[in-house]
Amino acid sequence: MYNWIIIGGGIHGCTIAATLLKSGKVKKEELLMIDPHSVPLARWKERTGRIQMPFLRSPSVHHIDVPPFSLEKYAKEKSYTNPFYGYYDRPALNLFNEHADSVLREVGLQEVWCSSKVVNVAKEGPYWEIETEDGRIYFAKNCVIAIGNNELAYPDWGDKLKNAWHLFDPRLDMEKITPPIAIVGGGITAAHAAITMANRFPGKVSLITRHPFRVHDFDSDPGWIGPKYLNGYEKVACYRRRRRMIKEARHRGSIPSELHQKLNCLEKQGSLSIIQSNVTSVCWKSNALFITEGSMMPATTLFATGFQAKMPQQKWLQNLIENEVLPCAACGYPIVEKTLEWSSRLFVSGPLAELEIGPGSRNIIGARKAAERIAKSI
Ligand SMILES: Cc1cc2nc3c(=O)[nH]c(=O)nc-3n(C[C@H](O)[C@H](O)[C@H](O)COP(=O)(O)OP(=O)(O)OC[C@H]3O[C@@H](n4cnc5c(N)ncnc54)[C@H](O)[C@@H]3O)c2cc1C
Repeated sequence: MYNWIIIGGGIHGCTIAATLLKSGKVKKEELLMIDPHSVPLARWKERTGRIQMPFLRSPSVHHIDVPPFSLEKYAKEKSYTNPFYGYYDRPALNLFNEHADSVLREVGLQEVWCSSKVVNVAKEGPYWEIETEDGRIYFAKNCVIAIGNNELAYPDWGDKLKNAWHLFDPRLDMEKITPPIAIVGGGITAAHAAITMANRFPGKVSLITRHPFRVHDFDSDPGWIGPKYLNGYEKVACYRRRRRMIKEARHRGSIPSELHQKLNCLEKQGSLSIIQSNVTSVCWKSNALFITEGSMMPATTLFATGFQAKMPQQKWLQNLIENEVLPCAACGYPIVEKTLEWSSRLFVSGPLAELEIGPGSRNIIGARKAAERIAKSI
């Protein structure tokens, strides 16, 4: 029997675990974290490493530790060269990851790690019964679902292509990619990938974006982190309206200005070609890919087209909703308490907490907010 089981060991699960353990309210032996990877933050490291993102988009006070200036303090102690970028002190990815690893070492997360996948969650009396794919069953007084989003989005025509991969498909081996390369997408992932690939294969990379670059420092206005917009948001009782507000607040497919400049610079040098085209269909002829506007590219295609907007579809989650009659809004996402409880002692974070936390819920700041609310509920 555990006091707490956290499902998912990504940024969200780890931030919540670190906060609970550091609060002194939860002891290590009372906590279990279940995740199919062998180490914490595996998916975050794989995705950010794959596009070779040098700096995060978020500021230095967004990290997995409790004190807001912990990352800055760590950078000073380790005498990091170039730890932060720009006006908002955006941390270098290496620094962010090393700091996160040091926090997780400090709280001993690896000792409470269970490497498996959850396949069922059910209420058993006052406890949550959690089953993993290897057939083991664990009981907990409190359960946190922090499974992130792994449902990749593809364009409708994506399945017509032969040598095409979503950039976040774990089966994709970046070392084996051969040029010419077409990257489809206009957001930050596409931009990082295009810069990395154009430096690796100059003149052999195309970036196909369906819209002109949308330049914004952050993926939503920083007013959504604090009272400026959240006070009004919290007063909205209608979840359809909350969903609309989230949609409008998000600068989807946007990039910060330094990436915009880098892309333009690579284009001017002739290392990268930028094609603005709303591709609606493609066809292959003589080993060449034709997009509607008539351009021709024999190419490895990499989709940087993000994630599906719909509620995560894992079967056990759907069963849990049905069996426990958990409240969901018209968009399919959970309606939760201020404590982020979906049902008594069943907490959510990340996309699942979005209707409560607002547009920043999926981000690192969302993890910090979720951790704070969950820890306060004890
Ligand atoms: C390339 C990239 C860059 C980003 N940069 C920033 C940034 O600069 N700043 C920012 O604030 N945000 C950023 N984000 C957004 C967000 O912060 C990250 O996506 C973050 O990793 C989300 O964390 P998470 O824990 O919700 O999800 P994940 O990292 O996906 O972790 C969820 C974990 O749950 C596990 N899991 C899923 N299902 C089960 C199950 N059934 N049983 C057990 N475990 C399960 C998964 O295997 C995974 O390990 C970025 C996102 C990406 C993709």
